[in-house]
Amino acid sequence: FDKLKEGLSKARDNFFGGIKTLFAGRTLDDEVLEELEEILIMSDMGYETANKILTELKIRYKKDEVEDPLILLRDIMTENLEKENFEENPNKKPYVIFVVGVNGSGKTTTIAKISKKYVSAGKSVVLAAADTFRAAAIEQLKHWGNKVGATVIAHEHGSDAAAVVYDSLAHAKAKNKDVVIIDTAGRLHTKSNLMEELKKIKRVIEKEIPGGSDETILVLDGTTGQNGIQQALAFKEAVDITSVVVTKLDGTAKGGIAFSINNQLNIPIKMIGVGEREDDLQMFEPKNYVNALLG
Ligand code: GDP
Repeated sequence: FDKLKEGLSKARDNFFGGIKTLFAGRTLDDEVLEELEEILIMSDMGYETANKILTELKIRYKKDEVEDPLILLRDIMTENLEKENFEENPNKKPYVIFVVGVNGSGKTTTIAKISKKYVSAGKSVVLAAADTFRAAAIEQLKHWGNKVGATVIAHEHGSDAAAVVYDSLAHAKAKNKDVVIIDTAGRLHTKSNLMEELKKIKRVIEKEIPGGSDETILVLDGTTGQNGIQQALAFKEAVDITSVVVTKLDGTAKGGIAFSINNQLNIPIKMIGVGEREDDLQMFEPKNYVNALLG
């Protein structure tokens, strides 16, 4: 929790921390509510989500005769982040995780972290280097594979990404591997091509694995705000995202994007990144997140 709190210090100091001061010794009158609305919208929460939270706060404040509105707000904010994460199925073989997101969002960091978790649990992991667009991405994945002890399946730079995925799944099936994690390209400037490429990979997975991928994770840079939400919608439409990893929350004075992801996109958050070190990527806990934000 201390690491999370330290990582979210910018967001707390700039926006959310102000709520405590705003509420101190006051009742929830129109003036307070208006200022609260401003804070929530400025925090990247999005207008719709901010209003949803405010409306709930007003109704429950009256109905429950609440003494401390801050406690109620904590509860409501937490509830607005809670979304059931599907159960991982540890017995499914191979368990396939498809990872998408734009370049620089933190995909490699996320893949490294997830593969490490599985390897530490004694599972065999295959990494599919399906970002064939950037030579550096293939090298980076090989480096991580070596470091954590995962097999990396890679083709030449510029080759067909879907073929890499096909080979990785074939390898995993032939060698009875536990987990396959698929890294993908994230070139933003030619977005439509990227989405077609991802759809093609999805088709390959569905053909080779009954029921398709077990998880499709979108890695999203938390500093991109409402733009990031638009980006996420494009990915969601192309490949059906099952959960989001929000990175770089230490680099934003806002932090409300987590609420938008849950409410506007209707996708659960799996992990959050609050720094560049390896252990700065944590499993997402709504209650801790809200408490770290509000202080
Ligand atoms: P990729 O291009 O999507 O594979 O992204 P990388 O995993 O290579 O990450 C891009 C950069 O963002 C690297 O310099 C990472 O160290 C940095 N990064 C990733 N996650 C975080 C985070 O939570 N906080 C901060 N401050 N930096 C991060």
